[in-house]
Amino acid sequence: MSAFVFDPPAVPSVAVADATARFPVRRIFCVGRNYAAHAREMGKDPEREPPFFFTKPADSVVGTGSFIPYPPDTKDFHYEIELIIAIGRDGAFVPVDKALELVWGYGVGIDLTRRDLQLAARDKGRPWDWGKAFDLSAPLAPLRQVASVGHPKKGRIWLAVNGKIRQDADLSELIWGCPEIISILSQSIALKRGDIIMTGTPAGVGPIVAGDKVTGGIDGLGEIAISILESTTPSVASVGE
Ligand code: MN
Repeated sequence: MSAFVFDPPAVPSVAVADATARFPVRRIFCVGRNYAAHAREMGKDPEREPPFFFTKPADSVVGTGSFIPYPPDTKDFHYEIELIIAIGRDGAFVPVDKALELVWGYGVGIDLTRRDLQLAARDKGRPWDWGKAFDLSAPLAPLRQVASVGHPKKGRIWLAVNGKIRQDADLSELIWGCPEIISILSQSIALKRGDIIMTGTPAGVGPIVAGDKVTGGIDGLGEIAISILESTTPSVASVGE
């Protein structure tokens, strides 16, 4: 007999490149405004203030190859290509020079955003959740282990819509690098195995509509592709790898 009143949901997970075992996702933390040119395009001064964070539900992850219905409640649905950190060891109050010891691997993801809801919330001092933390809002490409990719500090990060380049930058432009992000986050939240950190997006964000194919990648970390469908019930989404 089950200990639960109904069967618990499956553990959300991300594919791992060249492996069958998947990375189980515990929580998803996202960094806001971490490239100067993107901070400017969002109407903010890119001075080096401490990073700030928001979250997405673990079960908002979907794989590359997913078909994602245009989400409800928005008229301004945006892509944001991002470097993903996958945490493989627990840690709290981690100093910067030890922070990378927590990293299991890296990947490529898209922080899908209902920009109109996010900006309305921002301007009214309300939470960002409705703009950022909706169903299917975290497409992630297969992760790659540190053992095979090291700790990337530079490399092209790009995104294209229907083959046309919209975001084109370099990881070296990150305002806060991976060790700093992990260390700062760990001062507030005890990081745990399975946590995912989305490190922020470069300039060039913009809208997508039904019928669009969104592709992106980071040098050495692989590529991601998703397709946007007409609005429908999120539960009918066809989820990729
Ligand atoms: Mn983002």
